[in-house]
Amino acid sequence: MNPVDTQAETTPLDVERIRQDFPILRRKVRGKPLVYLDNAATSQKPQSVIDAISHHYSHTNANVHRGVHCLAEEATEAYEEVRRKVCRFIHADDPTSIVFTRNTTESINLVAHAWGRKFLAEDDEVVLTVMEHHSNLVPWQLLAKDTGCKLRFIDIDDDGHLRTDRLDEYITDKTKLVCMGHVSNALGTINSVRTIACAARAVGALVLVDGAQSAPHGPVNVETLDCDFYAYSPHKALGPMGIGVLWARRDLLEEMDPFLGGGEMIRNVTLERSTWAGVPHKFEAGTPSVADAVGLGAATDYLMDIGMENIRAHEKYIISYAMERLAELPFIRFFGPRDPVDRCGLVSFIDTDIHPHDLGTIVDQHGVAIRAGHHCAKPLMHRLGVVATARASFYIYNDRNDVDALIDSLLAARKVFGL
Ligand code: PMP
Repeated sequence: MNPVDTQAETTPLDVERIRQDFPILRRKVRGKPLVYLDNAATSQKPQSVIDAISHHYSHTNANVHRGVHCLAEEATEAYEEVRRKVCRFIHADDPTSIVFTRNTTESINLVAHAWGRKFLAEDDEVVLTVMEHHSNLVPWQLLAKDTGCKLRFIDIDDDGHLRTDRLDEYITDKTKLVCMGHVSNALGTINSVRTIACAARAVGALVLVDGAQSAPHGPVNVETLDCDFYAYSPHKALGPMGIGVLWARRDLLEEMDPFLGGGEMIRNVTLERSTWAGVPHKFEAGTPSVADAVGLGAATDYLMDIGMENIRAHEKYIISYAMERLAELPFIRFFGPRDPVDRCGLVSFIDTDIHPHDLGTIVDQHGVAIRAGHHCAKPLMHRLGVVATARASFYIYNDRNDVDALIDSLLAARKVFGL
């Protein structure tokens, strides 16, 4: 995510207008208007995405890349058009370097299998960070078990920034791959991929970026990030669940082995052996989720119409206010960078007297949906010295009154406990 120079006191978005596009925001939860602050887990979907999926099944449904009939051609064209759109969205230059998967998790597993198992050996090192989501940790642990490669972890400072001052201790001649989250789902920190990529380049290592929390929230340019692999989950960016994105440098995709075998990923098959289709099809075995791809296309259009710079500016506006309001509450301790320039639109916090799960349950009674738990980042929780946190995460349809509703519900939780 590239920095944007915008005042945090105003938002460029017409939130009221945007909210009308999201039917779920009209429903009540526990008799109260829904205040949805769990966007880091998944975003809500605008009507245009819901309609695109429905339209696909009503008018264009057919399997892709196999039929010669009209519907098959139209479905194939719709599917491939989304690949081109995603390519523009992340400012890549070659649509064939976009692989559709199921989610970020599958994209990272694909790289661990198809690149890692082919190119890593005992004593090679993969560098991660202590703030990784389990999706960008467990696949590398599995790989280390199979290949004997070693994992090393970049630590954080007290403010939740990566210790980039100590990179030469972590990234050495043994490093073959650096895998890092662009934005932490548990701290909100926006990490400097370029700084770390520069250290990786200096030793000839590749860089994989987990973009699950960056692609939805601001402009992403895989070229200026200087990475080799970039993965994200469209369901966190207004799109449907069931489709994921992996971008990789084309030469890497060419030299990687397939991840899954089956229909559509082959050039030729005999009883004894097979040869592979070209990229990206070599990595898309079996029937893909075509309707979800179509929904992804509509979601990408929606985001690009608003403008990713505007979305980033809006989140800065919301998070500055959220941090300001939370700082007024002496019983709240929050984690991650204090400066909204260094964090995305989410905040992780604890009430020093109430367990995060209790807090989550009580604020839900007020219609406020937050996440409570370890956020699939257990090693990070351990590093922070907590078992869980509460997390409020904002998006384009949230405004400052949602922050107020959160604060009111946190105060109400104190009352429940007689505090
Ligand atoms: N990485 C990060 C930083 C995430 O926040 C998430 C989702 N919480 C993932 C990876 C995994 O995404 P998915 O479950 O869509 O594969």
